[in-house]
Amino acid sequence: MPAEASAGTAPTLRHPLDRPLRVLVTGGAGFIGSAVCRVLARRPGTEIVALDDFSSSDPANLSGVPATLIEGSVLDEPLLAQSMAGVDAVVHLAAIASVQESLDRPLEVHRVNVTGTLTVLEAARAAGLVHTVIASSSSVYGSGPELPKHEGLRPRTESPYGATKLAAESYALTWQRSYGLPVLAFRFFNVFGPRQNAGAAYPAVVPAFLERTLDGGAVTIFGTGEQSRDFTYVESVAEVIADAVVRRVAHDEPVDLGFGVRTSLLELVHELATALGRPIDIEFAPARTGDILHSQAEGRRLAELFPGLRPIPLAEGLRATIEWMHGEGER
Ligand code: NAD
Repeated sequence: MPAEASAGTAPTLRHPLDRPLRVLVTGGAGFIGSAVCRVLARRPGTEIVALDDFSSSDPANLSGVPATLIEGSVLDEPLLAQSMAGVDAVVHLAAIASVQESLDRPLEVHRVNVTGTLTVLEAARAAGLVHTVIASSSSVYGSGPELPKHEGLRPRTESPYGATKLAAESYALTWQRSYGLPVLAFRFFNVFGPRQNAGAAYPAVVPAFLERTLDGGAVTIFGTGEQSRDFTYVESVAEVIADAVVRRVAHDEPVDLGFGVRTSLLELVHELATALGRPIDIEFAPARTGDILHSQAEGRRLAELFPGLRPIPLAEGLRATIEWMHGEGER
C-alpha cells in the first residue's frame, strides 16, 4: 500500500481501491457500533462484519444494514481469528461501557474491556497487522481542573471503567510501537443519539433525560447540574471513525474525539426543553461516586488528522434523537 503524508508520527496508508474494503466492527450492534456500520454501509464497496455478544444491545439495531452479523465474544480467540480473516480494518468498540457496572463488577469489566482489547490486538497482529481503531474514553482524564482536556495531560482515572479504558488504549499504542500494528486510539467524549440504551441499568445522561421527558416526567440531576460535558452526536463520531478506516489513519498517541463545546447539565435540560417546545421539571439528587465534574476536548489533534470535520451541533443532534425516539425518522 502506498504511504501518505500523515499529521501523526505513524504512517498513514491509503487502501488499494481495486477490491471492497472489509471492516470488522466489534460491538457492532451497540449504540456507536451500529452507527459506524450504518455510515460505512453508505460508502460504496465496503463489506461489514459485525461481531457482538448482544450483552448490552439488540441485533435489531442493525436492521436494514448490509452487515454479516457474528454472535460471540471478543474473548473467544478462535472466533476472533475467524472473524478477522480477509479483514482490512477492525473497529474495536465491544466493551462494558458503564462506570457503575465497573464499580459493581470490576474484574468482569476488566476482563471484557482490557483482556478483550488485548485479544483483538493479538488477532489483528496475527492476521497480518490489520489497521485497528479502538474506543478509549474521556474518563481517563478524571476530574483534574485543567480545561479543555488535551492528550498531553496526565491521565487520572477515577473509576475502574476509566482505568480499563486507559489500560486498553495503552495496550493498543504499545502494540503499535512493539509490533508495528497500525493503531488509532480515540478517546470518545459523551456520545449521544439514536439507539442509545435508555433501558440500561445505568443509562447515559441524554437517553435518561429524554426518556423521562417524553413521558412528561421530571429529570434527575445528580449534583448541582453545573457539571458539564462535551456532548458529541453519534453520527459525527461514526463519520470520523469511518474516515479513519478508509484513510487508514494511525497515530502513536491517543486522539480525543470531542468537538470542544462544553454544555452543563442545566443547559442540556434547557436545550431539550427548547427542542421539545415545553418546560422540563428537574429533581436534584446527591452527586454519584466516579462522576466527573467537567469534560471538554481541545480537539487540536483531531482537527489536524481530520481537517474536513463538520460536527453536527448539539441542538440539531437532540432534535434528530427526539425524532428517532418518536419513530418519526432518523439522520
Ligand atoms: P454499547 O453498550 O451500546 O456498545 C458496546 C457493545 O459491545 C454492545 O453491543 C455489547 O453487546 C457489546 N459487547 C459487550 N461485551 C462484549 C463481548 N465480550 N464481546 C462482544 N461484544 C460485546 O456502548 P457504546 O456507547 O456504543 O460504546 C461503544 C464503545 O465506546 C465502548 O468501548 C465504550 O467504552 C466507548 N465509549 C463510549 C462513550 C459514550 O459516550 N457512549 C464514551 C466513551 C467511550
